[in-house]
This record gives sequence, structure tokens and C-alpha cells, in this order.
Amino acid sequence: MSRILIVEDDPALRSSVRSVLERSGHEVHTAGDGAAGARELEQNHYDVVLLDIGLPFVDGWEILESQGDKRIPSVVVISARGEERDKVRALDMGADDYLAKPFGADELLARIRAVLRRAQQPPAHARTVTAGTVTVDLGSQAVMKNGVEVRLSPTEYGLLAALAEHAGRLMDHRTLLRTVWGPGYGDERNYLRTFIQRLRTKLEADPKNPEVIVTVGARGYRFGPPAAEH
Ligand code: CA
Repeated sequence: MSRILIVEDDPALRSSVRSVLERSGHEVHTAGDGAAGARELEQNHYDVVLLDIGLPFVDGWEILESQGDKRIPSVVVISARGEERDKVRALDMGADDYLAKPFGADELLARIRAVLRRAQQPPAHARTVTAGTVTVDLGSQAVMKNGVEVRLSPTEYGLLAALAEHAGRLMDHRTLLRTVWGPGYGDERNYLRTFIQRLRTKLEADPKNPEVIVTVGARGYRFGPPAAEH
């Protein structure tokens, strides 16, 4: 069971989403405007936040912006606008996923399952992988830069771990998207682009000349220098 917060001002949508999620066994709390949503996030712990963009008092963009690095829950933006540039903006501002209204119960539950799966990844082989000044402990899921722990969102960590598990080898775009986000995401290049950028900002000494997450032509990315062939 996960704790989910719905921040949505449309009462009908709020209650239908609530009952879909409760029927799947989640503990659901709701906020009907942005100010109440921001307050909830400040005071209580949630695993997932379903965040509407068009909200009274404080809109979804402001809530995303105010979360910054302290954001722990996974955020799925739900928006009626459904434009590609809104989706990119939401991802750029730290959302984990984006769901355009109207959406069906199955689609909603699939997204929730996907963000929870990323947040609760079973520990990989307990081993430590290093590139430059960054060390990823795939067992404890701790990420250190120059010996200082870096806080990553579940999706950021999932992407970094997917790369680190194949350190020194190319991971192509499609494989990364399907591994981290799920089978239906193979073509969602925007997700990959924005999350790679976020990871580089947090991890690289010089994000413009990355040595932790290296771009491999137009094909994909690699963690660290290429593995030596034996
Ligand atoms: Ca709204």
C-alpha cells in the first residue's frame, strides 16, 4: 500500500481518481487547491503525488518549483492541456511522469505502478561502480560525489542505476527508456533527455563535458569510460 496525494480542483475528477486508487489498495489523501496541496507536501510524507497544473491560489508549476531538491515523492503531473511542451516543461521541472486528461483508470493505474516500481527497485547485485568522482552503490542505492551523498529522486536513481549496472558499455535510448520507464516508453526521447540533464547537473564536475554519463553518438549513453576489451 502506498500513500498517494491527489492535488486536483475538479471535485468530480478528484473523487473518481480517489476511488480508483483506493480500490487498488492505496491510502489516498486529497487537496482541492494548490495552497492546500503545498501544505500537505510540507507536512506529510507521500510516495506519489498526482498533481494538476491548473489550480486555484498556487498552480502546479509553482508547487513543482518549490519542491526542488527536497522532493522525495514521485510526481505524476495530470493536465488537461496535453501539449508536448507542457510535458517537457513538467519533466524539466522534476516531474516523474505526465498524464494528459482525460485518462482512463487502467492508464492511471499503470502510471502509478510504474512510478512505484522505480521507487521500490529490488537491490541489484551489491557492488559499487565508480566514474570520475561519482560512486554508485547498487546495493544500498547510495550515490556519492566527492564522498558526499547526492540525493536523487526514484526515477533519477533508476536511470543512473540502469547505466551503472552496465558500466563501460553503451545503453541505447530505447533500452534505457523501456528499462526505466516501461515497455510503452521506447520512443519518449524527451524523458531521457531531461533526466540525463538532471543527473548531469547533480553529478558531473562539468555538465558540459560529462565523464560520468557519456553521450555515445546518437545511439545512447554510457556510464564512465568504455570498458576495456579482453
Ligand atoms: Ca484544474
